[in-house]
Amino acid sequence: MKAKKLVIIGGSAAGAKAAAKARRLDQKAEITLIQREPNLSMASCGYPYYVGGVFDDRNMLLATPTGVVRDPAFFLKTKNIKALIETEAVAIDRKKKSVTCTDLKTGQQSMIDYDKLIICTGAGAALPPVPGIDLDGVTTLLSMADTDYLRKIRDEKKVTKAVIMGGGLIGVEACEALKESGISVTLVEMAPDILPFLDPQLAKLTANHIKSKGVQVITGTCVTAFLGEAGKLAGVKLQDDTIIYCGTAVVATGVRPNVKLAGEAGIRIGELGGILVDRYMATSDPDIYAAGDCVEIKHLITGKNVLAPMGDLANLQGRVAGENAICGNSVVFPGTIHTSICKVFDFAAGSTGLTEKSAKQNAIDNIETVINVSPDKPGFMGAKILISKILVDKNSKRILGYQCVGNGDVSRQLATAAMAIQGEMTLDRLVCADLPYAPPFSPAIDHFIASAHIVENKLKGRLKTISAEEVYKKIKSGEQPFFLDGRGPDEYEVLRLGIGEKYIPLGVLRGRLGELPSAKDAEIICFCKVSLRGYETALILEENGWTNVKVMEGGIIAWPYDREK
Ligand SMILES: Cc1cc2nc3c(=O)[nH]c(=O)nc-3n(C[C@H](O)[C@H](O)[C@H](O)COP(=O)(O)OP(=O)(O)OC[C@H]3O[C@@H](n4cnc5c(N)ncnc54)[C@H](O)[C@@H]3O)c2cc1C
Repeated sequence: MKAKKLVIIGGSAAGAKAAAKARRLDQKAEITLIQREPNLSMASCGYPYYVGGVFDDRNMLLATPTGVVRDPAFFLKTKNIKALIETEAVAIDRKKKSVTCTDLKTGQQSMIDYDKLIICTGAGAALPPVPGIDLDGVTTLLSMADTDYLRKIRDEKKVTKAVIMGGGLIGVEACEALKESGISVTLVEMAPDILPFLDPQLAKLTANHIKSKGVQVITGTCVTAFLGEAGKLAGVKLQDDTIIYCGTAVVATGVRPNVKLAGEAGIRIGELGGILVDRYMATSDPDIYAAGDCVEIKHLITGKNVLAPMGDLANLQGRVAGENAICGNSVVFPGTIHTSICKVFDFAAGSTGLTEKSAKQNAIDNIETVINVSPDKPGFMGAKILISKILVDKNSKRILGYQCVGNGDVSRQLATAAMAIQGEMTLDRLVCADLPYAPPFSPAIDHFIASAHIVENKLKGRLKTISAEEVYKKIKSGEQPFFLDGRGPDEYEVLRLGIGEKYIPLGVLRGRLGELPSAKDAEIICFCKVSLRGYETALILEENGWTNVKVMEGGIIAWPYDREK
């Protein structure tokens, strides 16, 4: 039988994975990988850590776990895959089943025939039309060339100030990388909050953490111009005409699928601008598959198409496309729940499933949420804090979303939640879920499970809560609820909100009830450091006849606004 000819356009995450999977399933197929850049299989997610000096060997971004650089010779010798680097696919002729390529070094054109084609062209920068964006010193952080440029800035130590435009995942990672390089950094985000995969309260807490590292974070404003002298960047101008002087600026304003090639070949493109694929990753042409940042995929909760430019998804989709191109449509890629995580200095921030914001945008409003703050391990094992928000469908009790930030093990919490969401687990199952427990790894009731317990208490009407955001709004609008902090003097001397709260330690509360409002329907908001004692305080008040008692979710630790101490 004639060997199958498989051609793959794009040789990084999705493309290289598709090629490798195809080879494992068919030792005889002729597999050709066409890659515009000089490198293959780049670990793009690692770029910020090379820039920031976490490691110094550039080849680690391109190498296998055993340290072998994945260059064309590696692909040929170990996988029998012909990898053409610095070669651009410029046209696809679907009738002749061939791809026209240009060798970028010589300019020579050639044609490569295919039986099956996989398009993995990724995504490119969505650059805003800001004057001066072409100045020397303005860059993105999307390619090896960008990475080399920023790493040079770190090594040369000439640039002392940088501006990051955009507070998404790449913007925040770039911010940390440059700050860790000894550069003074300002992060400018147009939206009211950074990291759009978080709801505002958790995003503000994360921004506070970035500020605590000496970074200036400016939200709710745009960069309106890059200003230069002799073609070189000298500063950026903001909407209010403020000028921030800087030697470099990183534009991190998002990416857009690279679909020109596919679109010109008549392959269907979706409303969001990505290549449309079915669950086999097949495009509108059954002989052509697509995978990675260039496609639209289904959101598993809303059922709508989304763009989800993430490295894990690109690899998973590449694997499915590679198998189906070789074996016929036999495996499926079901979709995404939008799981993301981002390191933020000695803190992490992530989300899986829906946020409250995205649920509302999708008209999913019959939901309950709660913020939980608790340690990731027992205190004697060096506990670190986790702050999370869980989202549950009130009718089905299905977990719809989970966000977590903090300096504890955020990744593990998100991974557990992501599996619970994808497994369509309901709250009643989750509250008794059997997870691995020993003190070096977690408390007896893990943080995510505790979050489920709290939201269950709320749904059963045993816990009435108020968010820090609602409390803040009340204070701003001049309302004066009675605030009760249930901690002891040694604690409030080091950490306190200063919103007019009364301090009555939980242990003495029963004997000091006379100090509370005499009107039994007065609004009383209880809290403590994390609001566990706040909850117990509220129960005592309710037992003694007060009827309008609420617990502030997450206590002082989850308060994202200024505080007295
Ligand atoms: C700084 C940074 C940090 C990131 N961090 C994370 C993270 O922590 N977690 C996460 O999940 N994701 C992360 N991502 C996203 C992740 O890297 C991408 O989702 C992933 O690389 C997408 O893989 P892909 O193969 O679809 O596209 P790409 O990696 O963009 O590869 C596409 C390749 O196709 C080539 N190409 C395009 N057109 C042609 C053509 N016509 N001919 C030939 N070649 C062509 C391009 O040159 C490119 O090399 C990060 C990305 C960046 C830039």
